[in-house]
Amino acid sequence: MANALDRLGLAAGDRVATLAWNGYRHFELYFGVTGSGRVVHTINPRLAPDQVAWIANDAEDQVLCFDMTFLPIVKAVWSKCSTVKHWVALCDADKLPADTGIPGLVSYEAWIGREPVGYAWPQLDERCAAALCYTSGTTGNPKGALYSHRSTLLHTFAVSMPDALSLSASDTILPVVPMFHVNAWGLPYAAAMTGAKLVFPGGALDGKSVYELIEGENVTMAAGVPTVWLGLLNHMAEVGGKFASMRRTVIGGSACPPAMIRTFKEKYDVTVLHAWGMTEMSPVGTVGTLKLQQSRLPLDDRLAIMGKQGRAVYGVDMKIVDGEGRELPWDGKSAGDLLVKGPWIISQYFKAAGGDPLVDGWFPTGDVATIDADGFMQITDRSKDVIKSGGEWISSIDVENIAMAHPGVAMAACIGITHPKWDERPVLVVVRRAGTNVTAAELRAFYEGKIAKWQVPDDVVFVDAIPLGATGKMQKVKLREQFKGYVLPGA
Ligand code: AMP
Repeated sequence: MANALDRLGLAAGDRVATLAWNGYRHFELYFGVTGSGRVVHTINPRLAPDQVAWIANDAEDQVLCFDMTFLPIVKAVWSKCSTVKHWVALCDADKLPADTGIPGLVSYEAWIGREPVGYAWPQLDERCAAALCYTSGTTGNPKGALYSHRSTLLHTFAVSMPDALSLSASDTILPVVPMFHVNAWGLPYAAAMTGAKLVFPGGALDGKSVYELIEGENVTMAAGVPTVWLGLLNHMAEVGGKFASMRRTVIGGSACPPAMIRTFKEKYDVTVLHAWGMTEMSPVGTVGTLKLQQSRLPLDDRLAIMGKQGRAVYGVDMKIVDGEGRELPWDGKSAGDLLVKGPWIISQYFKAAGGDPLVDGWFPTGDVATIDADGFMQITDRSKDVIKSGGEWISSIDVENIAMAHPGVAMAACIGITHPKWDERPVLVVVRRAGTNVTAAELRAFYEGKIAKWQVPDDVVFVDAIPLGATGKMQKVKLREQFKGYVLPGA
């Protein structure tokens, strides 16, 4: 594949994009693209096609490789992706459909099949770019986090260590977390470094498929967001299943419910490693592995500690600060804005989008947290104006802007409401324009075709007024308090 990229005349640093599930071809791209000096750019296929095109253009992708599942997205965006010169379908030559309309489309296997097996890997500067991943977890357009070979290698060492994910050549690792979500939390790299066996689920992420894969491949360690694990646990309860070989699982991306940690331990003897991180952090920042004295505590006490987001892995520095930037004590009670720094944490976004994000050299996470005397961090709130549903971001600002374009809306605020399956779901709080009588159904229908279906608010609630601050800004914190305990339709 690296030879094939050379033949296309791709320069060092050029971006090769993927729209793909976790699979071996995607894995080959991870190493072939980066090892030959180019940058692998994983695009999230769950975004609306217009956003996919926007991201491909911003990254100036030259090649785009996609799984056949995502052919409809590519059909919708190819004419808008102005820099992409080569389209590659990740399939065998005989599986390539005729007349897709996509210019010059080739199958991956035919494309690499004619190349020699050997490749003279270049000696690269360790600080050159290796991988690019966009986050929608910020305000405005998605922003790119660009990882270097050096940052990726250091991150890989750190996450493999015993007090992090404790990976070794005797493990069989199943990343259910997508390779388009911050490099599947670095597991493809860590498996290669430690010599662990890797198992890929493709697009089959339902409880039954994941369970059968875990058992069929003797998986020892799996990683995913809480929503996917909920599906797995429901299936296990239905069929009365047990895990023959799985002993630990990394859960992160959203807060892992304490009940899930308990169920895994008590019913299945699986230790949950609750982890926290961000796209901007490669992503791992903390992992909830216990210290010696803690590991001797009774189960309930241990579970209480494991419910926190965990301790910083070696290489990551954390601090919490109050509204004036004063550092707060690590007492497990004082909550403040969480800031981080370390060798695999960005110092700016790709193309310096959004300006300098750092505050005195620290990266502000947008999370609000406590840290206890043992260094265990716990997220208590979020200061950034985005909602996370099933591990995917929804921009509350986008949702609000669309609502504000409706003639019946005077003011609209979108907030995240706790949901048993998706962690959070968006709810739109609306003040009607005087003299109009717009309904919830009309407003929900108004979103059709404007954002992805799963980003449409679950509910619309009409109020007389939305709380405003001194500068006229909507007070989301107050609104969230007001809607605490609100039960969503169908939740
Ligand atoms: P992303 O860049 O998509 O990986 O999202 C990072 C954000 O997800 C963090 O800043 C948190 O707001 C949230 N997040 C990630 N892991 C956890 C966790 N274990 N508990 C609570 N929130 C989390």
